[in-house]
Amino acid sequence: MIHRVTRNLASALLNVTKHGRVPLPAMMIAAPLPSDVTVSFEFFPPTTDAAVVNLWASIQRLAPLRPAYVSVTYGAGGTTRERTHATVVRIRRETEMEPAAHLTCIGASKTDIDAVAQSYWDAGIRHIVTLRGDAPEGAGTYTPHPDGYAFAADLVAGLKRVAPFEISVAAYPETHPEAKSPADDLDNLKRKVDAGAARAITQFFFNPEVFLRFLDRVRAAGITIPVIPGIMPVTNFRQTAKFAIACGASVPLWMYDLFEGLDEDPITRQLVAASVAAEQCRVLHASGVDAFHFYTMNKADLCYAICHVMGVRTADAAA
Ligand SMILES: Cc1cc2nc3c(=O)[nH]c(=O)nc-3n(C[C@H](O)[C@H](O)[C@H](O)COP(=O)(O)OP(=O)(O)OC[C@H]3O[C@@H](n4cnc5c(N)ncnc54)[C@H](O)[C@@H]3O)c2cc1C
Repeated sequence: MIHRVTRNLASALLNVTKHGRVPLPAMMIAAPLPSDVTVSFEFFPPTTDAAVVNLWASIQRLAPLRPAYVSVTYGAGGTTRERTHATVVRIRRETEMEPAAHLTCIGASKTDIDAVAQSYWDAGIRHIVTLRGDAPEGAGTYTPHPDGYAFAADLVAGLKRVAPFEISVAAYPETHPEAKSPADDLDNLKRKVDAGAARAITQFFFNPEVFLRFLDRVRAAGITIPVIPGIMPVTNFRQTAKFAIACGASVPLWMYDLFEGLDEDPITRQLVAASVAAEQCRVLHASGVDAFHFYTMNKADLCYAICHVMGVRTADAAA
């Protein structure tokens, strides 16, 4: 029964029958993957005392999986500057993990942003996830700050002038919603690489084929940096589907089907979510992908389970 379910899930993920692809090997989730896999985790800065406690419980649970780095987002419109800074610096001070600070162009002059970057460098933060950001909700379309960095590529170049940061940037397997065309969006990614980006982390997606075809296009465009798939374990399907529409990520029909009837059943939703994301990672890994970036939403359990399935384990569990 489990076997049939996972086979069906894999077929759904790859659209095996529609595209006539070779079916996947029969052994699915039952066998953990070899631990050549590296992972990274993304958190957002907490707003309340209770959220701080929750975040640190999640960080502590995931830390033994030895992520390559953990990143902390910068609130839309640059609204979490202090909280992002405080969280990143605390990770640096209190854990062995490599923290990465997200930083956006929004609502600040170049001088201000350079000062934030310098303060990160002075606090021992060497990795910045460099983004344009979005206009705050209700503020209409994006307009650059008159004295600011207009786009992420400009910010990458600016940060490199401040200090030799390691820079990650965003990439969009389904094209950024404001891009004129997929080719234009790829040119933009190339500009970010030319400005000094060492790695791209993708917007989340659900169909592994979407990522794999994007990677083909990235490589065909001569972009050679690592492109890490952004994996979103779905804790709240309705909310994720809404969010996906806003950021141009498609939600396959089979996902609506899988989550149907589970709105009031968080436990089953969690189990389904873990199997969907684990299978997504397994299919990607079978196609040569060996690094994954998890959008944790500050919750550890799902990510921990998916990592376990992928063979990413604590030293004790791996022994
Ligand atoms: C991994 C990841 C992490 C993220 N973290 C955060 C976060 O912490 N905080 C946050 O607010 N948002 C975050 N975002 C969302 C991101 O800010 C938005 O997706 C934003 O709309 C685009 O950011 P970007 O860095 O990709 O922008 P850019 O790379 O600057 O691209 C934005 C758009 O402008 C176009 N463009 C680029 N250069 C030019 C140009 N010279 N002329 C005309 N058009 C141009 C591009 O094609 C694209 O359509 C994240 C996204 C991802 C994928």
